[in-house]
Amino acid sequence: MPELAEVEYFRQQWDPGIGGKIKLVECNPKARIYRENSAKEITEALTGATLRASFAQAKQMLFQFSGGRWLGLHLGMTGKLLCVAKQPERGKWDHFVLRQASRTLVFRDPRQFGLLRLHIGQEPPAWWTELPPAILSDAFTPDVMNAFLQRRAKSPLKAVLLMQERFPGIGNWMADEILWRAQLHPEIKSGKLTSEQKETLYRKVREVSADALCAIAGVGGELPADLNVNIPESWLFWHRWRDGGHCPKDDEALQRKAIGGRTSCWCPRCQRP
Ligand SMILES: [Zn+2]
Repeated sequence: MPELAEVEYFRQQWDPGIGGKIKLVECNPKARIYRENSAKEITEALTGATLRASFAQAKQMLFQFSGGRWLGLHLGMTGKLLCVAKQPERGKWDHFVLRQASRTLVFRDPRQFGLLRLHIGQEPPAWWTELPPAILSDAFTPDVMNAFLQRRAKSPLKAVLLMQERFPGIGNWMADEILWRAQLHPEIKSGKLTSEQKETLYRKVREVSADALCAIAGVGGELPADLNVNIPESWLFWHRWRDGGHCPKDDEALQRKAIGGRTSCWCPRCQRP
């Protein structure tokens, strides 16, 4: 599932289309991505409009068009955005396609857990303005984070880091990376952290967010074969995916277990219970 940095990467893919008019909207009206607004509604609203700007926050994207048209886009599990110079025909998984004079903007989503949301108005939609403060914003302070940990005092820390209402955009691999860098066991109760551990956690939450954005969203340009190509070997990232991985710091065999419904991976030496 795309996390913070992957979402930011895909947002940038439609940038070449900013300032361009949408001449034609092509949809697969039966796709599940139209479960909130119909393909017909979206087509009528966007045909002839100009793409003005794009925004990404957490796992959400928002595209602003002329005439007070806004399109929210969630990538779901397998969604991707692409910009192609010319595409003669809509591909099998291309459920939403915007044609401009010299390029085509594509939303490709094989599994269709993605979602399109139309909003008409001068201001962005409420679901967007009500998103929790981004982790790298000034509003995400140690106090805000610590108060949340206290409210979830009995929950394992790994499960709390996945709660989008306070850690927007953090997904499974980022949460494991944060805990590994902070040397915290994923099952430690959120209310049991010392003040020193809380300070470290806060720094690592921001650090991993910034590093992931830089390594993944910073690649720019056309879709590389592997979005993670710039992630260094020294991160837990490369070692966590399947059984048999070793900690890149001390070569200890990594452990894996489902915590809060998601597979967690940690180093038993770096992250003692
Ligand atoms: Zn280790």
